[in-house]
Amino acid sequence: MSVLSDLTAALADGRVDVIDLTAPLSNRTPILHLPPPFANTQGFALQEISNYDDRGPAWYWNNFSAGEHVGTHFDAPVHWISGRDGPDVSEVPPQHLIGPAVVIDKSKECAENPDFLLQVKDVQDWQQQHGVLPRDGWLLFRSGWDSRAHDQAAFLNANETGSHTPGVSVELAQWLANEAPVIGFGVETVGTDAGAAHTFEPAFPCHSFLLGARKYGLTQLANLSKLPTTGAVLIASPLPIVRGSGSPARVLALVAR
Ligand code: MN
Repeated sequence: MSVLSDLTAALADGRVDVIDLTAPLSNRTPILHLPPPFANTQGFALQEISNYDDRGPAWYWNNFSAGEHVGTHFDAPVHWISGRDGPDVSEVPPQHLIGPAVVIDKSKECAENPDFLLQVKDVQDWQQQHGVLPRDGWLLFRSGWDSRAHDQAAFLNANETGSHTPGVSVELAQWLANEAPVIGFGVETVGTDAGAAHTFEPAFPCHSFLLGARKYGLTQLANLSKLPTTGAVLIASPLPIVRGSGSPARVLALVAR
């Protein structure tokens, strides 16, 4: 059998499972909120065109509107000023949209400390146990934050000092961009950077370093708890928006049972 007929047979008989890493998109999908003077994104909304009625008796359909960075979504290099000469979301090579994914689980630490920052040492310790990060693959950061995704306030976890959500240290952002063999970093939170990352030096280091290195981000992932630590195959499918800085994406994982 060919490798692809092996795969389709394994999908059919359950030896390979498909896990949906995508949060549902609706007007309740939580969105990023930047403080003044910065402009904010629109959330997701449907506008009904017809619903088996006078406007279209046999069909139901909608327009939709949303920011590019709403819900489970893909950050293209051009999203950040450091990556401004890089590819927009329509220019990302399709080969980069399918690749191996590994999971680092710090959900316990993040439950105790919502400002938890993943460090270079955490990833190096992970590599000691599980091997090197996959070339042209994804490092997925399990923070447990997906359990808050039904509630905008809990998801952003903001108080008078701003948003308190987990992320990565400046050093790790730099390391992932320049040393690690991965092409992307995925998170369960509203963005790849920590809630407090506007105070870091540089600000928003994950965006700045990874997108500057022509790597990618995936945010608001769901069901990372269902993935093995290593061995999953991730499929990300952002819309090919011409000049788009990112796009809501359906993200799937193939997992061997
Ligand atoms: Mn984004």
